[in-house]
Amino acid sequence: MEDLTDVSFDENLRNRNSKQRNELRSWSFYQLEQFLTYKAEEVGSKVIKVSPEYTSQRCPKCGRIHKANRDHDSHLYTCDCCGYQANDDQVGAMNIQLLGTLWISGNENPKLRVSENEKPVSLNK
Ligand SMILES: [Zn+2]
Repeated sequence: MEDLTDVSFDENLRNRNSKQRNELRSWSFYQLEQFLTYKAEEVGSKVIKVSPEYTSQRCPKCGRIHKANRDHDSHLYTCDCCGYQANDDQVGAMNIQLLGTLWISGNENPKLRVSENEKPVSLNK
């Protein structure tokens, strides 16, 4: 799962003060993590948390990372390199799955990285 420690959902937290927001945010993520961990262990699996950095900016087809490919208003990701299109949350989920696959393959701290010219980069260390 994405490491959501510093992420907030404004819809649920808008009418609360900052202390309440932090408590609710921490508790919600804690509950979600505990529930997923419990369910995963039931089937012999494991929950890992990965860096969310660039997960909504990386093209799942060609690997290009480019911030402008994601349109926040329409929630549409369109790769300016290969033309791949999908919902931006779906793209984020696909990249989180990729990071999990890298973890299973032995990379203990999988992260997406951007090259200087924004060309696809190798995901291996
Ligand atoms: Zn692409």
